[in-house]
Amino acid sequence: MVDVVSVLSECRALLTGHFLLSSGKHSSQYFQCARLLQYPDRAAEVIKIVADRLKNEVAAGRLAIDSVIGPAMGGIVVAYELGRQIGKPAFFTERNDEGTMTLRRGFEIAPGDRIVIAEDVVTTGKSTLETAEQIKALGGVVVASICVVDRRPADAAEPFPWPLYAALRQPAVLWDAADCALCKEGKTPAVKPGSRKVFA
Ligand SMILES: [Zn+2]
Repeated sequence: MVDVVSVLSECRALLTGHFLLSSGKHSSQYFQCARLLQYPDRAAEVIKIVADRLKNEVAAGRLAIDSVIGPAMGGIVVAYELGRQIGKPAFFTERNDEGTMTLRRGFEIAPGDRIVIAEDVVTTGKSTLETAEQIKALGGVVVASICVVDRRPADAAEPFPWPLYAALRQPAVLWDAADCALCKEGKTPAVKPGSRKVFA
């Protein structure tokens, strides 16, 4: 099986350093999935891990899937590639002007449709749960979630009442800014991921 950590490192999607995250927490690692998804062949290798697991469940009669939905932006390409590999339609939800996750562009769910939600990263599961609300409101049924990297803390409870399949389970190590082990070492200041310095 493909070594996901090696692929992510080669694509420079998994960065090691001293990062200030949007949550205000500090971390020694940052995962930028878009840097994997820019290489379609590498993305296909990684997403195949979860596609194969879903196919096994379907073959065993434990799962049935009608379509794949990814929350924009992070879920769009992941959903597309998963849909391609399992032979199902794939589309996406996006936030409207009020910030609510909605299905637009004429995408439709038929009552009873069995849907897999596809994400790049699950940390809290918030956007997956928001997408699930929209699916349920339209009469669909969420049967599984998939993601490239499951970054939930090591002691986190199961985030969803349906199974989550991840190509890589790698819990985030986070510190409050006042209590950061890397700040205490004092070697380098924390940088915001996405800044020029990180990707230099
Ligand atoms: Zn720090």
